[in-house]
Amino acid sequence: MKNDRSWTEIDLTNFKNNIKELKKFFHPQAEFMQIVKADAYGHGAFQIAKKAIECGAISLGVANVQEGLLLRYQGIKITIVILSPSLENEIEQILENDLIPTISTLDFAVKLNKKGKCKIHINIDTGMGRSGFYYEKALENIKKIKNLENLEIDGIFSHYSSAEEDPEFTKLQSDRFEEILSKLDVMPKYIHISNSSGVITFPNKYANLVRLGLLSYGIYSNKDMKNKVILKPVMTFKSRITQIKYAKKNDSIGYNRTFIAPENMKYAILPVGYADGYDFLLSNKGKVIIKNLVCNIVGKVSMDMIAVDVTKVAETKVGNEVILLGDSNENITVENLTLLYGGLSYELLSQIGRRAKRYYKENGKIIDSSPLLRREFMPKDLSDNKLGNIIETAIEQRLQSKEIANLVHEDILKRLFAEKDKDIHYRRNFKHSIKFEESTKSPFGRGNERGFADNFYLTSTTLSFTKKLQNDYFYVACAKTESDLEKYFLRNDVEYRWLLDNSINLKEMFFTVTSVKVNNIELYNEMKIADGCIEIKCYHPNLKSLVGKEVDFSISTKTYYPKSSHQLSVYIIEMTQGVNISFESELKNVEAVPIFSGKSKFPKILKSKNKISISTDKDEWVFPTSGVVFVY
Ligand SMILES: *Cc1c(COP(=O)(O)O)cnc(C)c1O
Repeated sequence: MKNDRSWTEIDLTNFKNNIKELKKFFHPQAEFMQIVKADAYGHGAFQIAKKAIECGAISLGVANVQEGLLLRYQGIKITIVILSPSLENEIEQILENDLIPTISTLDFAVKLNKKGKCKIHINIDTGMGRSGFYYEKALENIKKIKNLENLEIDGIFSHYSSAEEDPEFTKLQSDRFEEILSKLDVMPKYIHISNSSGVITFPNKYANLVRLGLLSYGIYSNKDMKNKVILKPVMTFKSRITQIKYAKKNDSIGYNRTFIAPENMKYAILPVGYADGYDFLLSNKGKVIIKNLVCNIVGKVSMDMIAVDVTKVAETKVGNEVILLGDSNENITVENLTLLYGGLSYELLSQIGRRAKRYYKENGKIIDSSPLLRREFMPKDLSDNKLGNIIETAIEQRLQSKEIANLVHEDILKRLFAEKDKDIHYRRNFKHSIKFEESTKSPFGRGNERGFADNFYLTSTTLSFTKKLQNDYFYVACAKTESDLEKYFLRNDVEYRWLLDNSINLKEMFFTVTSVKVNNIELYNEMKIADGCIEIKCYHPNLKSLVGKEVDFSISTKTYYPKSSHQLSVYIIEMTQGVNISFESELKNVEAVPIFSGKSKFPKILKSKNKISISTDKDEWVFPTSGVVFVY
């Protein structure tokens, strides 16, 4: 938060408390569906969904297929009902992702029935005048839907238009609904009509499911509601001062000069505007809290900035925290802010935080945050959820920041699934063994030049793996600096890379390939030393016929490693399935520090007298940028 220009704090403890309070009004048999449409009224659908499930929600309500898909892709498994009518072209995604559409027309039901088996909820318009079958036509349509063999009626529902303020009409809607239900020969599993206000104002016996929205977010739909139930707002919207300004009497502030300073004044510029969801209609009306004092918005709300009068606030500084919305003060509750301009709580909440990051709080502590950039992303293929989860933990682990991790995760998925033509290279059965020995002989032969043998371990390495052969040749490369070596990471014709100690002269005796095999064909190799790097080309005429096939590589080298280094790193730079990396030496106290991004963050470490090895299961995927550091 320290680095944020504006942010929202989502108090999950308050949310949990609200659910608890609302449950007191439930009919004993009633379950609840958490409404998380519009990104859970701006609170973040995924986090709210998780918490609601913890609180006992048996299903989630979303507005459209996209919202449902996103939750599925984030790993939510429970029932998801799409509350608005769906389009024909969304049917496939509905079926593939196990979402429940609501049926509001016979035409859609027939189309859905043709595509496959599907659970549905039927929507009846008992007076809302929006989507759904008009109540007088409901029964005949339900009958027809019952005859569609692929559709299973899991629920029938209706929606109140004015549960918070009009008991008479609410009762009329409820009666109409009940009458229809009484004429059904078979009751579907779920009957529901109440939104969160209805739960408080019109508890009914025949329904066994309620749909909780606004009130669960701690916002009262009506003043009277306050006397009936005690709720706590879940969202707080905050920002900070980016500039302090002084206006002389009669100076104007903001677009179109709607505010003229009545006196000399001090004001603050905040980096929040209507593009952040701070409503334009709060121009010259809104209030914010700075250092516990109420300050007025002066001038028009701009796209990205507002000005507030801080004349009476002592010692204001750039960076001071500002509360724009929340319950710390009566003036800035959602209910009262919307009252200032005749706005709607639902609207204000769902538009807040388009730019602001969300921080999730539990028991006063921040436990999580959601991405900075709320890009919309939908992978075409969600079938491999497992892979998604692996990637997510992998990246999270690597980046230590969930928020960045999520962004990178999205990018990776996009690359994996959205761009299908991309060829992904991966290795299987990855085995890398490294062995240190005292080098009794100097590579220089007699004379033991500069005491070389005393300072370096003779190092033998063998790398083997299975991979698709891409060309009839490949390279083994060796460089003295990380940046030189890095360029070999980007080349896909290089299969082995080694970082040579900087103090060693690049001569062939310091790095030699002792054997390179592909499927047991011993390859020829040709060394080239240039620009601080050694490149060894490995090739064989028989490789041509193997190009495009999976082959077994085996590459063995001999080199020298400085004793003074005290550590040796092995990196994995391609998607790899099944890893075994071992280090053998006479040294005592060797430790292995794996930095792994894979399904399990901690691979197996096996120690024996001379050898320490790191391994995963044979079919476990390990992601690029994993590695292990042996410390000696
Ligand atoms: C949005 C919505 C709700 C939730 O209403 P609240 O007033 O926020 O509790 C319930 N049912 C349906 C069909 C909705 O679209």
